[in-house]
Formats: sequence, C-alpha cells, structure tokens
Amino acid sequence: MDMNATEAQQKIETLRQELEQYSYEYHTLDTPSVSDYEYDKKMQELISLEEEYPDLQTPDSPSQRVGGKPLDAFEKVQHDIPMLSLGNAFNDEELRDFDRRVKNGTDTDVNYVCELKIDGLAVSLKYEDGVFVRGATRGDGTTGEDITKNLRTIRNIPLRLQEPATVEVRGEAYMPKRSFLALNEVKEANGDEPFANPRNAAAGSLRQLDPKIAAKRNLDIFLYGIGVWENDTSESHSERLEKMQALGLKTNPEWKKCNDMEEVIDYVHSWVERRPDLDYEIDGIVIKVDNLDQQEDLGFTAKSPRWATAYKFPAEEAVTKLTEIELSV
Ligand code: NAD
Repeated sequence: MDMNATEAQQKIETLRQELEQYSYEYHTLDTPSVSDYEYDKKMQELISLEEEYPDLQTPDSPSQRVGGKPLDAFEKVQHDIPMLSLGNAFNDEELRDFDRRVKNGTDTDVNYVCELKIDGLAVSLKYEDGVFVRGATRGDGTTGEDITKNLRTIRNIPLRLQEPATVEVRGEAYMPKRSFLALNEVKEANGDEPFANPRNAAAGSLRQLDPKIAAKRNLDIFLYGIGVWENDTSESHSERLEKMQALGLKTNPEWKKCNDMEEVIDYVHSWVERRPDLDYEIDGIVIKVDNLDQQEDLGFTAKSPRWATAYKFPAEEAVTKLTEIELSV
C-alpha cells in the first residue's frame, strides 16, 4: 500500500473506530452488522498498517484487545488467569509460518493437537472440590459476566465432577444447528427478529437475566482448556483433554494429535469438506502445541497465546455459510 504517514494515521483511526463499533455490536450486543469475513479483513488491514508504522501502535487499539465490555446487568467476575483470544492463520503458508515461530521459541521437536473451533460463546466453569460453583463469560478477557444460573441449565455441564477436583475449565457453549433453525422458525412465527447465526443465538440466550430462557434453548458445550487446575500433573494438553473427559467434562471427540505441521494441514483440509456434516457450526481449526513445558517456553502476547493459532476457513466458506443461513430462516 502506497501511503504517507498522515494518510496511514487517518486510515488507522477509521479502521479502529469501525472495528470498535463492530466488536461492540458482536460481543456486547450479540447483534453483528457485518460478516466475520469483513471484520477479519479490516482487522488484518489494521494489523499490517500498525506493523508498517510502529510509531502509530497503541495499547488500546482493537488489534491489542480481547472481546468486549461485560454487560452491567450481570455481576462481574475477575478471571484468575486472563481468557485470551487466538492468533489467526488464513492459509497453509501462514500455518507453516506459525510452525517456524513455534520452533524458534522452543524445541524443534514439536507435536500439535488440532481441535475444531466451535463457533459459540467462550465460558469459564469453576469447580471447587468437584462442585460447580461459578460460570462466567470471557468478557474483555480480564472481567467477565457471572452467568452461573444460565449455565446450570445446560445438561452437559456436570454439577458435580467424577472426582473432587478444584479446577477452572474453559470451553465453548453453543447452539446446535437444528435448535437454531427451530428457534428462528418460532421467532419468525411470532413476528420477532430472528438471530443472525447460531453463535449469536447461543450468546444471546446465555446473556439473559432469566435462566428460564436459556433452559428452553437446547444449548450444549464442549470444554477445551484449563485456567487453573490444583495438583494437576499433566505434561501435555492431550493428557489434560483425556483427564477432563474422565472427570465428566464433555470434550469434542474430533481432536487429533499431529506429529508435524504437514499432518496438521491435512487435518485442516479434511475439515473444510466435512464441516457441513456437523450438527454445530465451526469457523476453523485450533492448533495447539501439545507439550506444556513448550507452551510455557512460548508464553503469551497481550492478546493471545504464542503456542496456539486458529486456522480460519476460507472466505467463500464464510459467505456460503451466511447465505445458507439467510436462505433457510
Ligand atoms: P476467535 O474467535 O478468532 O478465537 C478465540 C476463541 O476461539 C476463544 O476465545 C474460544 O472462545 C474459541 N474457541 C473455539 N473452539 C476452541 C478450541 N477448541 N480451543 C480454543 N479456543 C476455542 O477470537 P475472538 O477474539 O473470540 O473473536 C474474534 C472473532 O470474532 C473475529 O475473528 C471475528 O470472526 C469475530 N467477530 C466478528 C465481528 C462481526 O461484527 N462480525 C465482530 C467482532 C468479532
């Protein structure tokens, strides 16, 4: 892009304002006005301009921040460990770049775990001595909303674990495609505005003050990570996923351990085709370094772990997805 510094500054300012508005509509109000593809494209543009003009970088730029402000109607929850976002890769080359960065930051011998990127609402579940005591949204990463009562209505969230573990687990609450279509049919029949997509339907259902609403919405959950786990001796993320499942925490069965990035790329490609067969929406594949010591070597940026990335499905897929939903409701 051929721009002088003043033009770049103006462009950066416009992009920041637009992205802030989109983020507010999406994360705080659950009613996006643009597609994820459009949002991601503008975010990429902002990131590359900020890289080109490092003097114009600021810590409050949307490129440095996670999620959106919690709603005041809910009690606030301070996360013990921040709930972050994920870096993105949009093609095979960017996955190979990620692999190179990982190997520069830790050993050259790295295994990855690939998981489906569930398109729902990130939540944290806290268990004390095996008892579910608190559920929260991610919010802005530091402060979330207390939605314990709503989360209690999801049947796959155990109120008591198989063992008296003290653990804070993280996962994605989502609305299955079938429930989403049925819900929108009812909404339309009642003359109400339908939800834009299952992600917003799930988020909108869980961020209601009356838990009876969430109870009627057939929500579900997959757990995929840990905030804090007292006395855990796991050495890898894959070991943790297995232990979580054994505790009664529902993990997604499609995860796979891969020995190198080429194996990861094959897995990613296979899901571009298999994606429509799932009963829930996914918007990509999450790739995580398996070994926990290596994760620690790599650490975090202000916004995301350096030991993980999200491969986002190609744009035409995103457009098809929106069109399909628009046509079917
Ligand atoms: P993200 O959605 O790209 O990735 C991070 C999230 O992935 C995590 O917080 C977690 O909730 C989720 N996730 C799902 N499955 C996971 C798994 N197996 N392991 C780990 N995490 C998993 O980032 P984000 O910060 O949550 O949101 C940014 C994205 O939201 C944008 O890229 C865009 O697609 C969308 N967005 C859209 C608009 C809009 O107006 N359309 C506005 C803001 C954001």
